[in-house]
Amino acid sequence: MTHRPDPELLDLGPIEIDGVTGPGSDRASAPVVVCRHVVKIYTARTGRVFAVRGIDLEVDPGEATGIVGPSGSGKSSLLRMIAGLDAPTAGSVEIDGVDLHAVSARRRARLRGELVTHVHQRPPDNLLPHLTAAQQLRRLRDGPADGLVAEALDTLGLGELADRRPAELSSGEQQRLALARALVAGHRLVIADEPTAQLDGASTEAVLRAIGSLTRRGVTVLVATHDPRVLPHLHRVVALREGAVAAITEGGSERAVIDRAGRLQLPPDARALFPDDRAVVRRDDDGVRIERP
Ligand code: ADP
Repeated sequence: MTHRPDPELLDLGPIEIDGVTGPGSDRASAPVVVCRHVVKIYTARTGRVFAVRGIDLEVDPGEATGIVGPSGSGKSSLLRMIAGLDAPTAGSVEIDGVDLHAVSARRRARLRGELVTHVHQRPPDNLLPHLTAAQQLRRLRDGPADGLVAEALDTLGLGELADRRPAELSSGEQQRLALARALVAGHRLVIADEPTAQLDGASTEAVLRAIGSLTRRGVTVLVATHDPRVLPHLHRVVALREGAVAAITEGGSERAVIDRAGRLQLPPDARALFPDDRAVVRRDDDGVRIERP
C-alpha cells in the first residue's frame, strides 16, 4: 500500500504517523475512524447550508459509538463522509489510517468494499430478495466460505434460518443478517443509520445483542439513532447539535465538548438563560463560571 502522508499529520505525534506509514504500525489498536475538523457545506438554491461545522472524532476498534441529535443536526452528513460516500468541504476523514478523500475515486470505492458494511434503516434495503440468508453471505467471499457463513449465522442467532429468503425473515432477523455480512466480509467498520427504527422491542434487543457480538469480535460500529433503547448498549454517545459535537457520554458521564477554537455548546435549557446572546465569564480556582450579564 502506498499513500502519501498529509504533511499536516507529521506534526501530530507518533500515533498518526504510524497510521499513515503502515509498516510497524499497530493497526489493531489504532483508531479505525479519525475525523479531523470535518466541515460540510451544501450549496442549495436558497443559499449555503452549514451541515457539519468542524467535527473531531476518533473511534477505536471494537467500539460501538452512537451519533445522536435532532433532525438536521448533521448525523447523516457525517456518516456519509465517514463512509466515503460524500467528500468533506474541509478537514479529513481517515478509515484505517487512509485519508478516504485524498485517494482516487477508484481506490476509495475499493477501500469501502474492503472495510465498510452499511446497514440501512429499512431492513429489505440491506439484502437481495432472491437469495437465502446463507447465499447472501456466501457471495461476499471469493472462495469457499461455508464454515465462515455458518459461524456468522450462529453468532447472530440465525443458525436455523440459513435457507430462508428475506421475505421469510422478520425485520429484526433481516437486520441481524445485514450485520452478519460484516463478519463474513471481514469488515472493520459497520455504519448503521437508524437500524432499529422499524423494529419492535424484542427485535431491537436482538439487534443490540448482535451489535455486541460484533464489537466483541473487534468490529467497530457507528450508529446514527434517535432510539433511546439503543443508547445504553453503546460504549459512547456523541450528541450533535447544529453540525457540531455538543456532548459526549461515555462510561455513564456526559461531558460537554470544547472545540479547537475554545467554543463550548450549552445544553438547550442553559442556552435559554441567555436570550441576549451575551454572557459574563468568570474564572475562579474551581474553573470557569458563565453568568447572565
Ligand atoms: P440529520 O441526519 O441529523 O437529520 P443531515 O446531515 O441530513 O442531518 O442534514 C444536516 C443539514 O444539512 C440539514 O439542514 C439538511 O437540510 C442539510 N442537507 C443535508 N443534505 C443536503 C443536501 N444534499 N443539499 C443541501 N442541504 C442538505
